[in-house]
Amino acid sequence: MRAMTADVVVVGGGATGVGVARDAAMRGLSVVLLERADLAQGTSGRFHGLLHSGGRYVVSDPGSARECAEENAIVSRVHADAVERTGGMFVVTPEDDLEFSDRFLIGAQETGVACEELSLSEALRLEPRLNPGIKRAFAVNDAAVDGWQMVWGAARSARAHGAEILTYHEVTDLVVEGEGEDRRVVAVRAHGLKTGEDLTISCAMVVNAAGPWGGRLAAMAGSEAVEIVAGAGIMIAVNHRLVNHVINRCVYPADGDILVPDHTVSIIGTTDSRIPDPDHIPIPREEVAQMLDAGEVLIPGFRQTRLVHAWAGARPLVRDKRVSGTDTRHMSRGMTVLRHSEAEGLAGLITVAGGKLTTYRLMAKNTVDAVCAELGVERPCTTDTESVPGSESGHNYRITHRLAAREQDRLEDQIICECELVTRKMLTDLMDEQPDASFDDLRRQLRIGMGPCQGGFCAARVAGVHVCQGRTDAAEATELLRTFLRHRWIGLWSILHGEQVREAALDFWMLQGTLDVEDLPAAAAPAAAATPIENAEDGEQRPDELAEALAALAAAPRLDAEAAALAGATHATAAANQEVRA
Ligand SMILES: Cc1cc2nc3c(=O)[nH]c(=O)nc-3n(C[C@H](O)[C@H](O)[C@H](O)COP(=O)(O)OP(=O)(O)OC[C@H]3O[C@@H](n4cnc5c(N)ncnc54)[C@H](O)[C@@H]3O)c2cc1C
Repeated sequence: MRAMTADVVVVGGGATGVGVARDAAMRGLSVVLLERADLAQGTSGRFHGLLHSGGRYVVSDPGSARECAEENAIVSRVHADAVERTGGMFVVTPEDDLEFSDRFLIGAQETGVACEELSLSEALRLEPRLNPGIKRAFAVNDAAVDGWQMVWGAARSARAHGAEILTYHEVTDLVVEGEGEDRRVVAVRAHGLKTGEDLTISCAMVVNAAGPWGGRLAAMAGSEAVEIVAGAGIMIAVNHRLVNHVINRCVYPADGDILVPDHTVSIIGTTDSRIPDPDHIPIPREEVAQMLDAGEVLIPGFRQTRLVHAWAGARPLVRDKRVSGTDTRHMSRGMTVLRHSEAEGLAGLITVAGGKLTTYRLMAKNTVDAVCAELGVERPCTTDTESVPGSESGHNYRITHRLAAREQDRLEDQIICECELVTRKMLTDLMDEQPDASFDDLRRQLRIGMGPCQGGFCAARVAGVHVCQGRTDAAEATELLRTFLRHRWIGLWSILHGEQVREAALDFWMLQGTLDVEDLPAAAAPAAAATPIENAEDGEQRPDELAEALAALAAAPRLDAEAAALAGATHATAAANQEVRA
């Protein structure tokens, strides 16, 4: 058992927790952050990718709209490398009521959300794939944000200011001293999932930033003051940037009303339903169909696009007693900073929940203000002025950056992932910085395997580089490769139809038919893969469905001597597979 001490222990390495760690460290407090998985592997890595302008909330939640408008400008500046300033549009489609657009315009003026009406010809010139029947269009400051890039940027900044960030460390208990109204959280117990080591960290304050798991964490201290509801939503990536701007339907927030251009893909989403357990988030087939229908309203022909991946996340919504317990769509997106000392006489614990990724920095500021008040210190927040390491204000990410870089280094460096233009050097640099990273950890930061082939071509190369560099032996690399491929599969199965079936069949034949990945000798799965979140890497793992999908692909001819004889059957099999649809 290792003993440590800190002023503040932050639980949760999503945007909110990392934001709190950064802010507290910048104010000179000693900080330890504990995250049971990789950074941003919870909701902050399973969201829609939109840096809100505030437009989405000008009618339904003016307070959130104002916060988003202000934070959009700050986050774009401080995390320039994670934010692509695409701009956004709100459009009234032929299916929508024009009346809402008048309220939208008034709401934007009242909340200070920048908004300008566009002529229909200008809107269609800017976005030629938009439904030509749109009735009105407004330009707003929406942007696309890479959650992993943003969170890692904040984490590097926190580390530079002295914070200790411990990933793959699960908090198992909060130690409370005293009784009744005179209780205090004095320490945190955690278990290192990779190291196997137990830790006890004595501290003055604990910040519960465990997102949709926050209720469970508060319960470890016997708290009854916080009810966090997990509001789940699915998203689907299609294999092109169909649009250059974020496209929103100009309606009261609804399912499937936003399309975000994100790196090389576009993301349609999302849905909103209460789930009992954020470790198990299903991707229901009817919701997939609902997203395709919603996309079709914005972009005619959307149903014919190639879907490359689906995933799901759970919003950490704080239960609003005025709204029914199952109606997550109408629960507030506003933030809550709860001082348990005031709410229930439990000192040393603050819970932060709700809000949005867009407002993570403001949530962190409000939380650290509360920490300082509890500790009786006064130190100003400076997170809005200092850019995170690797980011330069005014130099925002653009989709073309990687292509420009590859044009410069293509003769010196090998490309590992063609879809996302990841080079061997990018890969080995990250392996050097994070030697324990799994292939999924590398994927989140580099986007390896996130394009149309979903890892079919690059995953084995990553394993090869890993072994060639002497980081693991072949058996360990095989297990890392298998885990990576299974996780890609979870997000594929629910959307497997059309062109993506052909890609999946090709990937399967290469990886299984040629390399026989599933039957190669492999090491035991690493301990960290046994964490509950593993089962929800991109959605609920359905072993039965996965086995069914793999069996369907295995039924197709393998690359062996019989293949020639079976060639005549290939077309029939491919046609049958086209029917496989979630
Ligand atoms: C479907 C969907 C779409 C969304 N789209 C957008 C969007 O486009 N734009 C936007 O601004 N916002 C969006 N949001 C909201 C936004 O994603 C969340 O508000 C935000 O990511 C929450 O971050 P968090 O850090 O509070 O929670 P999380 O990111 O979930 O972080 C909590 C962390 O706590 C860790 N944890 C839990 N228990 C323990 C434990 N015992 N020990 C250690 N660690 C633990 C978890 O592993 C997790 O990493 C969306 C949300 C959803 C669900």
